[in-house]
Amino acid sequence: MNKVLVTGGAGFIGSHFVKRMLRADDVAQVTVLDALTYAGHIENLGEAFLSPKLRFVHGNILDAALVDELVREHTVVVHFAAESHVDRSFFAAGAFLSTNVQGTHTLAGAAVRHGIGKFVHVSTDEVYGPLPVGSATEADPLRPTVPYAASKAASDLVALSYFHTYGLPVCVTRSSNNYGPYQHPEKIIPLFATRLLRGEQVTLHGRGEHVRNWLHAEDNCAGIELVLRDGVPGEVYNIGGGTDLTSKELTGRLLRLLNAGWESVTYIPDRLSNDIRYSMTFDKVAALGYRPERDFHDGLAETVDWYRRNTDRWAPLMRNPHAATVAVAVAVAPTGEVARVR
Ligand code: NAD
Repeated sequence: MNKVLVTGGAGFIGSHFVKRMLRADDVAQVTVLDALTYAGHIENLGEAFLSPKLRFVHGNILDAALVDELVREHTVVVHFAAESHVDRSFFAAGAFLSTNVQGTHTLAGAAVRHGIGKFVHVSTDEVYGPLPVGSATEADPLRPTVPYAASKAASDLVALSYFHTYGLPVCVTRSSNNYGPYQHPEKIIPLFATRLLRGEQVTLHGRGEHVRNWLHAEDNCAGIELVLRDGVPGEVYNIGGGTDLTSKELTGRLLRLLNAGWESVTYIPDRLSNDIRYSMTFDKVAALGYRPERDFHDGLAETVDWYRRNTDRWAPLMRNPHAATVAVAVAVAPTGEVARVR
């Protein structure tokens, strides 16, 4: 697997994965294909650009000609690129369907044409829908309730159809809620941390009873690498973390880390749709050697500390949440390749 194409590698989880791949001895080249939407930040790759193994291509997974050209040059594909924010999907579902479903189809088609050795499609526990009790296994039906999760469920099925129809060696990973440095401040942990750092109020939906399982992005990437190397084609692998918390419990932990009190919290009506609880077993990936390594308490403290130390990274996004990229100037060559990063 010496040449790895990573889509969405300038995003939150993808950028952690790229850095991990660059450290692998048997990886000669890592190419990032990223459209640098409001969610993608080339700065997330930062020191990774010191590696001669990294190549960055500014482009869209919906650009079939570009995708075909890039896939042809690689041995494996790890597909992170997606519209990823549930709340946005309530108002812009079309973009979720085109990027997440059509984009996966475009990539998988190119992967079939060029005999890609492994295609890992990165997905989410949200495809299983709400589970008031119990935990989903990979064999459970998909019952997504929000446009984001529906687009991911559809893209999982598209990816797997390329295994069944064309024999493309596809694996799907479904992880729980990721946290860690480099996450866009639209997501709950960085949103609350950055608001509290600025002395602002945070808003809790409903009664704060929604349960999520928390997984450090680096643990997720370790699981994705195991699936990339040893996952059985055609199989789905859930990747979970060790900590289940209600949103109120999570808020309490953030308040403590940021020396703020419950007077900083405002309760607001729940959003349009909000699944009460997600939960998965992850025995299949554990059989490949996976276990979540990061202690949630320490990981959360380190994450909050990262946002405290890197105000320049998130403050411009709070002023202009649609900013495609901040602080670093990117020169884009006519081919779609990023020629220089200053
Ligand atoms: P993110 O929003 O931080 O990053 C997405 C990246 O994809 C960005 O860099 C963006 O520029 C890029 N992108 C978007 N549309 C593109 C397009 N059309 N062409 C090329 N690039 C495009 O997302 P994330 O949180 O890092 O999530 C990565 C993947 O993991 C997604 O597929 C998401 O569904 C999945 N996932 C995320 C979580 C989580 O908690 N964040 C949990 C489970 C699964």
